[in-house]
Amino acid sequence: MSESGSSAATRSRTALREFDVAIIGGGLVGASLALGLAGTGVRALLVESVAPDSAAQPSFDERTTALGNASRRIFQGLGVWEEISRDAAAIRAIHVSDAGRFGFARLNAVEHGIDAFGYVVPNRVIGTALWRRLAGASGVEIRVPATVEDLDITTERAYFTVVTAAGAREVSSAHLLVAADGAHSAVRAAAGIEAGVEDYDQVAIAAAVTGDRANDGTAYERFTPSGPVAVLPLRGGGYGTIWSCSPQRAAELLALADDAYLDALQGCFGWRAGRFRRIGRRASYPLRLTRAATTVARRTVLIGNAAQALHPIAGQGFNLGLRDAALLAEVIAGAAGDVGAAQLLRRFSDWRAADRGGVVRFTDGLVRLFGSRVPGAGLLRNLGLLAFDLSPPAKRALARVSLGFGGPTPRLARGLPLQ
Ligand SMILES: Cc1cc2nc3c(=O)[nH]c(=O)nc-3n(C[C@H](O)[C@H](O)[C@H](O)COP(=O)(O)OP(=O)(O)OC[C@H]3O[C@@H](n4cnc5c(N)ncnc54)[C@H](O)[C@@H]3O)c2cc1C
Repeated sequence: MSESGSSAATRSRTALREFDVAIIGGGLVGASLALGLAGTGVRALLVESVAPDSAAQPSFDERTTALGNASRRIFQGLGVWEEISRDAAAIRAIHVSDAGRFGFARLNAVEHGIDAFGYVVPNRVIGTALWRRLAGASGVEIRVPATVEDLDITTERAYFTVVTAAGAREVSSAHLLVAADGAHSAVRAAAGIEAGVEDYDQVAIAAAVTGDRANDGTAYERFTPSGPVAVLPLRGGGYGTIWSCSPQRAAELLALADDAYLDALQGCFGWRAGRFRRIGRRASYPLRLTRAATTVARRTVLIGNAAQALHPIAGQGFNLGLRDAALLAEVIAGAAGDVGAAQLLRRFSDWRAADRGGVVRFTDGLVRLFGSRVPGAGLLRNLGLLAFDLSPPAKRALARVSLGFGGPTPRLARGLPLQ
């Protein structure tokens, strides 16, 4: 994008507010980055369009998120884990099965010498903890609800106007613009970065349920002819469920009364977790793989869903995005000079490539293997799951993915301070 004469003229007439870093999007990933930069001496701006305590907040809504141990350590480093952990349920075992077939796999955390594979937490709890801590953080200016207009990215700086809900307009600039504005990122588009979109032709229905017995810390993933069903333990004994199915089936399921939906879910998932009795609000999400062609461009970097938005089948999207945020905070805080220098951004992008590529391929591969109607695919799946159950190296590999490792690991994810 080139600097237009009119926007340059507007800037010269108006007081320009200058920042080192402007983060657009204060969802789970953008808010984590902002917190990572707090107190580092970096002058940061965080712009979020929906208030964190609004029922319409799209990032911290009714969903639950399975956090790997690397994410737990990052949150410890950001000073929010203590608050989050009060509402977290530990995943002590993972059970994977294929409906109507013999193959299944079971992993126990103790067998891997760890306390838990991860923790399931309501998104709202994570968002509230991040924003509460941000309110007292130094070095981060916050504009919410607000958005940006007139984005103009030059070789020296990115210029933009922050427009608040009250109608105030602040002409601003930053050395580095961070797109953390989700899968449909407007910043990504304004920076001229293409994104490939593959529609899985599936919709996920998320809902919390309680049953006739409390969970024992097992997370279930069941592959069914209509799509995968995840049943995750929640603090308090219930389960967070995610049922992915065709858009037509999802429309039918969403139209059902609560009791009828619970019966359908039970019929699909089975009885391993007991009888489901009550259900909270259902929310639905169309599932696509959205992948930016590059994660860096002039004065711009993409993180979280703006860089890659995944199918939730393996619970990896946020964990990956949080590692984006943790490593970017580390790179920015450690930069000797210009935090938006091309060389610095290239290094960040190269460091993230292995983790990003690995998690995208792993997640997409799972969707395709378990969604395949090709003759023989069912047998392959069963043999795969059986082999998986018997093979310690394969289990260790999955445990590593669940733990969130792959590529260079950010310092925060290793339990070290940012600098
Ligand atoms: C059903 C489901 C279950 C999932 N479960 C898991 C799981 O168990 N584990 C896991 O790791 N991941 C999971 N994920 C993925 C996870 O939810 C996403 O990876 C995560 O939400 C990405 O966060 P983000 O902050 O990058 O983007 P988003 O959550 O999309 O947030 C973007 C933010 O930017 C704001 N915004 C947008 N445009 C603008 C603008 N122009 N100006 C200012 N602000 C703007 C939005 O209001 C929002 O707050 C799941 C996803 C789904 C759909």
